[in-house]
Amino acid sequence: MNGGVDLHREFQLRWFAGDAPTVYDLDTPYLESRLSHHIRHISHKNQPESSRIMSTVEAEPQTSTDLKIVEDATCTFCGCVCDDMVLTVEGNRITKAKNACILGKAWFFNHHIEDRPDATIEGQPASYEDAIERAAQILVNAQYPVTYGLSDTTSEAQRVAVAISDWIGGNVDTTTSVCHGPSGMAFQGVGEVTCTLGEIKNRADYLIFWGGNPAESHPRHFTKYSLMPKGEFVPNGRKDRTAVLIDVRRTKSAKAADIFLQIKPRSDFELAWALRGLAKGIDPDPSVEEKTGISVEQLKQVMDGMKAAKFGAILFGMGVTMTRGKHLNSEAVLALARDMNRHTRWVAKPMRGHGNVTGADNVVSWSTGYPFGVNLCRGYPRFNPGEFTTSDLLARKEADAALIIASDPMSNFSQPARDHLASINSVVLDPKLSDTAKVATVAFTTSTYGINTGGTVYRMDDVPIPLRPAFESPYRSDYEILKAILKRIREIQLQAGS
Ligand code: SF4
Repeated sequence: MNGGVDLHREFQLRWFAGDAPTVYDLDTPYLESRLSHHIRHISHKNQPESSRIMSTVEAEPQTSTDLKIVEDATCTFCGCVCDDMVLTVEGNRITKAKNACILGKAWFFNHHIEDRPDATIEGQPASYEDAIERAAQILVNAQYPVTYGLSDTTSEAQRVAVAISDWIGGNVDTTTSVCHGPSGMAFQGVGEVTCTLGEIKNRADYLIFWGGNPAESHPRHFTKYSLMPKGEFVPNGRKDRTAVLIDVRRTKSAKAADIFLQIKPRSDFELAWALRGLAKGIDPDPSVEEKTGISVEQLKQVMDGMKAAKFGAILFGMGVTMTRGKHLNSEAVLALARDMNRHTRWVAKPMRGHGNVTGADNVVSWSTGYPFGVNLCRGYPRFNPGEFTTSDLLARKEADAALIIASDPMSNFSQPARDHLASINSVVLDPKLSDTAKVATVAFTTSTYGINTGGTVYRMDDVPIPLRPAFESPYRSDYEILKAILKRIREIQLQAGS
């Protein structure tokens, strides 16, 4: 018993220390007036319910002369999930994307229908039915199957994936385990003083961006949600706000900040703790400057501004979560926001990367009670990062089958994890022929969420956003494929009497 506890703890400690074998290397002009009668103007209200919920399976390919406008479409490229896109669609291509940033434009313009079979088995084209059968057999017969990915698909599909993991007694994990997993643990440890991006837009007069570079990773965050927009209680927009950037490098985001604190690497925890002390009226030891690179005077200046703010927000990125201290850094930042509420209103939110990684956290949490790295082998959920996180589990050669959804671990996991993933049976769902799809036993070509597939995604502030697809794909959605696999798994289990 004690040995089990020790092992459990060791997994955690190695994961926290970052030495587990995970290696995370890691306008166009809008048509000013109504287009002529041959343009189909599509608003989501006019779409049939079926196309808003899920894509049509075997759609007639549109001809290249078709032209339509899709208003209020959603970009799912990053966690901002901007839902004010105006897309011009010509046939099977998006040719204009009003309101999209440079990353969003690349996301929309580079999307095209792949010329690949619906499904392959061991690299050979296969019928959809055969592929479903083989996938179900692989998963239901595995001793220790792992489900991974889920951050770039709809919450409807995420929900089915968790159900599959539950029925087959496997492990379910998301890409959160290699990005904001430590924050997910910190929420459970100290809680989260939170808000929506709308509140930040309308109220925040003091912003701290910590360990991130939103100017390049989330290009519209500054302009749409946080720094620039005019809001109800900040009517002058940027002029009413003070912005602080804390980072180890002077990135492009530094130009947008009023105060830039260039901290020494691996000193986020010490800096947050010094600010917590100041929030409570305790002067930090002068050695904090040598440790963090930031003087006590600079810290006092920032703390004075924080206390004087009417509404402050700390927005933290992977520079906080994936450096020494990991979840302890996130806990320190969340606790700082909590402490500041003795003086004025403060919140702290993680900056999330993938389009629906927040949805993955939500779905896995509401289904199992834990946000990622959940083991269901015993019929009840167990949570232990380092033990049940996929890269670790693969590197230790424990999993004997994998269900990978909208993710490409073969391109970013450690070599031992990749080697093992390539050696076991795997079922991969991806719109592209990713490195992971290339080694899959069964690979399904899927439609792309947000562009071809409707459903729901969660913005980084946990607000669910509906998707309004631009055009139909001949390929099925993740949701449809996972539902078919689940149905077949249950048939097999019921026939076997389990
Ligand atoms: S900020 Fe993110 S969600 Fe918004 S348009 Fe750019 S890439 Fe898309």
